[in-house]
Amino acid sequence: MDIEVEILQRLIGAFGNRSRPIGLHEPDLGIDEEKKVLECLKSGWVSTAGPFVKSFEQELAQLTGSPHVLVTMNGTSALHLALISVGVLPGDEVVIPTLTFVATSNAVHYCGAVPHFVDSEETTFGIDPKKLENHLKKIATIRNGVCVNKITGRPIRAIVPVHVFGHPCRMNEILLIAKEMGLKVVEDAAEALGSYLVAPSTKPLAHAGTLGDVGILSFNGNKIVTSAAGGAFLTKNSSYHEKAAMLGTTGKRSHPWEFFHEEVAFNYRMPNLNAALGIAQLNRLQAFLRHKASLQNRYVDLFSDFKFGKIFECDSSLGVSNYWLSTLILNSPDLLLRNKILNSLNNEGIQARPVWTLMHRLPMNKNCPKSDLKTAESLDSRIINLPSSSFLDVQVDK
Ligand SMILES: *Cc1c(COP(=O)(O)O)cnc(C)c1O
Repeated sequence: MDIEVEILQRLIGAFGNRSRPIGLHEPDLGIDEEKKVLECLKSGWVSTAGPFVKSFEQELAQLTGSPHVLVTMNGTSALHLALISVGVLPGDEVVIPTLTFVATSNAVHYCGAVPHFVDSEETTFGIDPKKLENHLKKIATIRNGVCVNKITGRPIRAIVPVHVFGHPCRMNEILLIAKEMGLKVVEDAAEALGSYLVAPSTKPLAHAGTLGDVGILSFNGNKIVTSAAGGAFLTKNSSYHEKAAMLGTTGKRSHPWEFFHEEVAFNYRMPNLNAALGIAQLNRLQAFLRHKASLQNRYVDLFSDFKFGKIFECDSSLGVSNYWLSTLILNSPDLLLRNKILNSLNNEGIQARPVWTLMHRLPMNKNCPKSDLKTAESLDSRIINLPSSSFLDVQVDK
């Protein structure tokens, strides 16, 4: 039997007579969400001023353990504010994995900075710390306390580790390298709400996005918890928080009645209506997490005797994944096969997806500096993301 037919048959068997198409990741919205949004509408406070915004920030602070939280209109704007607050300037370079969503790379460009792409690893889908260290030692030097790319002459100001599909990356090793090289760390935890990392300084686990200088979350419609659109900026550092709050609120100086704006800034704050939805969804996070863990386990069983690949599993020595997306990873890099599988699943209404086109292959990133990217290039032709909505059930007959 052809490999794509075998995968299709396993999945169709597991989904039973559930109606198709089956989305990659659909929001689970119910009566609680309806009530909260209606409560907000009836209050008249639909825009960025309003009590739900503060409550959502407080609930996120409690959940993540991050002392300061600023909610924003999306994850991308939180990333932009994060990069500015840690001091990324026009003409700087920012190290990011090539295997990430385009928002990571776009936020670097918004700062007038240049993304510098590094490789990922098989076991986490995140930045490979060994390759990162070797690459930086080769191409960078410290001049007057600033890490400088010896080839381009540009300062390398920051690094953005990404917890891809919600899986913890090797944060502790990356933090050590960043410290040694004088880089600020912005943790892209957009996909990782409800994921926890083993951290030397925290007992027992730290929420994703709380280990770097700043972390960000996303509440886009496809993420584990949604506020329709939304993001959050997390930090321990009160001056980063103040700076991000000021820049995200049109640069407005706080005053009872005066309009004074400190500099050209952004309108990035989350509206109250979105915060209301976010609060209702956040209340259901534990249920979503349990459901996703069970879906992931069923996929593991479903493909346990599959010869050409396996379901990716998070390295439990690094932490706990929220399993935002479950991934079938093929043993060998074969783009033709990957595309055949994606075609056959999608033709049958099973919305499987590849990983994002690697950042260094996008037109706007053609001339950006990069390390060897072999593992990311291999992963690109082997990753098949499977339907992972938190309400999805799959049956495995064993
Ligand atoms: C979703 C996502 C973002 C940005 O989130 P938006 O809310 O869509 O702007 C950033 N990085 C990664 C890795 C993401 O998956």
